[in-house]
Amino acid sequence: MQPSRNQKLQLPILQSHGVQLILKREDQLHPLISGNKLRKLKYNLEAARLKKAHTLLTFGGAYSNHILATAAAAAEHGFKSTGIIRGEELKNRIDENPTLSKAQALGMKFIFVDRERYRMLTRDEKKARALCAQDGIFMIPEGGSNALAVKGVAEMLEEEDLSADFICCPVGTGATLAGIAEAAAPHQKVLGYAALDHKGLHEEVARFTKNTNFEIVHDYTFGGYAKISPRLVEQMNSWLKRTEVLFDPVYTAKMMYGILDGVKRGAIPKGSVILAIHTGGLQGIEGMNSRLEKKNAPLIQISCSKKAS
Ligand SMILES: *Cc1c(COP(=O)(O)O)cnc(C)c1O
Repeated sequence: MQPSRNQKLQLPILQSHGVQLILKREDQLHPLISGNKLRKLKYNLEAARLKKAHTLLTFGGAYSNHILATAAAAAEHGFKSTGIIRGEELKNRIDENPTLSKAQALGMKFIFVDRERYRMLTRDEKKARALCAQDGIFMIPEGGSNALAVKGVAEMLEEEDLSADFICCPVGTGATLAGIAEAAAPHQKVLGYAALDHKGLHEEVARFTKNTNFEIVHDYTFGGYAKISPRLVEQMNSWLKRTEVLFDPVYTAKMMYGILDGVKRGAIPKGSVILAIHTGGLQGIEGMNSRLEKKNAPLIQISCSKKAS
């Protein structure tokens, strides 16, 4: 049997409200292919191999966890990789971007497109398919989200997770939430914490699962995708100090904030056991910190041995 990846968090707010919070450390699955992205890629890699593809082609933004995960998975499994990247202006600034530089070092080739073209390619599957109509190219959608990804994510949950009343995860495209909704037991409620302001997220998730055992919480997006506040950074640094767990600024920190606020407000009843999925994304901290530094804003600490600056 694999050792448990579940870790019980000790925070005063949990104790005072009589709630248990258990973190599933999916961030520790692989050093580069972070958390849910490894789960989402598993069956896509298998399908690419079966199709005898030589190249994985996918889409992502400048700091995308999925771009780096795909570059690393391709290198590890003997595929070439191409990333279609949102933002033409990034073309000459790869060196300034830790995510893209790492992906490039792993052998990924980039095609930079402006936002309009990116939108078209990620919304219109036919156009995207035309782009990679050649043999041997296996296309993975933005965020790695498709039915094969949902199947992989459903493997996250294990026997020991049956004790949880609530299972929580962050939501980007919604495929991860759908996979967890598929795998949850009937007595469990699945809560997805939106990382972006998008009222249509529920329908996005419903594209991937027929289950109705999930709910999306929209109150903790912090103004939108990849946006962050000094308050959230302060909380992240305090969680690191107390629990020695590092969260990522785009997804898991917002989920954590939402869970703890829900506990405080009584939205999560006393006596509950919460299982929260740490979906990874830690590679994004470096890029976020360099943007925060330019704004003279407080930085995310990455080591708990250091004193607060
Ligand atoms: C991509 C990502 C998510 C969101 O997953 P979706 O399946 O797109 O909803 C959550 N957390 C992390 C760390 C991610 O990289």
